[in-house]
Amino acid sequence: MTDLAAGKKALNVEAIRKDFPILSETVNGKPLVYLDNGASAQKPVQVLDAMDRYYRQMHSNVHRGAHTLGDRATAAFEGARDTVRQFVNARSTREIIWTRGTTEAINLVANGLAGQLSEGDEILVSQMEHHANIVPWQMIAERTGAVIRPIPITPEGELDLAAFDILLGEKTRVLALTHVSNALGTINPIEKLIRKARDKGVITVIDGAQAVPHFKPDVQALGCDFYAFSGHKLFGPTGIGVLYGREELLEAMPPYQGGGEMIERVSFEKTTWNTLPYKFEAGTPAIAEAVGLGAAINYLESLDRKAVETAEQALLQHANKLVETVPGMQVIGTAANKVPVMSFKIEGLHPSDIGTLLDQQGIAIRTGHHCAMPLMDFFSVPGTARASFAFYNTLDEVEQLFAALQKIQRLFAD
Ligand code: PLP
Repeated sequence: MTDLAAGKKALNVEAIRKDFPILSETVNGKPLVYLDNGASAQKPVQVLDAMDRYYRQMHSNVHRGAHTLGDRATAAFEGARDTVRQFVNARSTREIIWTRGTTEAINLVANGLAGQLSEGDEILVSQMEHHANIVPWQMIAERTGAVIRPIPITPEGELDLAAFDILLGEKTRVLALTHVSNALGTINPIEKLIRKARDKGVITVIDGAQAVPHFKPDVQALGCDFYAFSGHKLFGPTGIGVLYGREELLEAMPPYQGGGEMIERVSFEKTTWNTLPYKFEAGTPAIAEAVGLGAAINYLESLDRKAVETAEQALLQHANKLVETVPGMQVIGTAANKVPVMSFKIEGLHPSDIGTLLDQQGIAIRTGHHCAMPLMDFFSVPGTARASFAFYNTLDEVEQLFAALQKIQRLFAD
């Protein structure tokens, strides 16, 4: 509790909550308790204002150089790209590609690498991946004859590292791995695994969608080749995401989509590609959304990230402590190293009933398979209920969740 008090004091959660207008909403007559941050996080007024300002004062198309508004829009858009570059510590903005989100980023990489894959090559993905880091690889495997090899996990929801060492073999070409599991909260020791993969010349693709809301990735320190994430989970807008890619690898990949912006010169005889990062950004980009994501990162950077982590861990610890107050409740995913995500089931209750009844009490959580069906199969459950916390959540909200769960259980017991 001392750590929590220190974390909260440094963080000033009450002041932070005022930055998020939606947190003052009522839902079904109750003050909103938003515990579905893993699905999508809420936006601070700084992000809303940045997008509003962009549309009111500078909107035009980017990279046209024809007039002042276009220059303003381009400066804001490219400024946001540099904010992302600093956030992930990439060497150059040439390595930062705007995408619609993590899903599109991984599809882009999978398609880009297809030409380097052939029959029998192996792609390692883990059993805890989101479908966004499974299905694109399956589609590429079907096209190329490559084979998907799942890395098993332990009953606690951690990667089976011994199995990984065995699977990483002569035929492995790609390691596609999540930094943090969306359904379990497990933080994977990706630095170690990336090092092992790179030693064998394996390309590493990291799904950072659930990691970046909790800590800053350093792509140079991690040593990964690709790192993907979504703006909307990072307190920014929907419709925008990021693919970091190592420059040499991006250079070697063909474009993902064709159209305007991604070309250098077009003729019916031969079309040549634009330089990085524009080679991968066909069409008019999501300009306001990029600006909004830049503002979200600036907002996060204005917080004491250490204090954020401490406060988030305190929320998780408090939730863990309260589990025993709900008989029959079982946490799925008990890894030693976790972000504040609690997946659970309660004996005799269907996850979707839990979700609906919590919603009636103003509490938003996620229920279902979490786009991680192979993981649900591993735990032999059709789905779970999942509370995912952010730095703007409070201990009181954790307690409200458990009080509501106890109430639901009493309701069903009667
Ligand atoms: N990867 C992980 C781990 C996720 O949690 C999600 C979304 O829940 C995704 C990928 C897909 O993100 P998006 O839908 O923003 O593309």
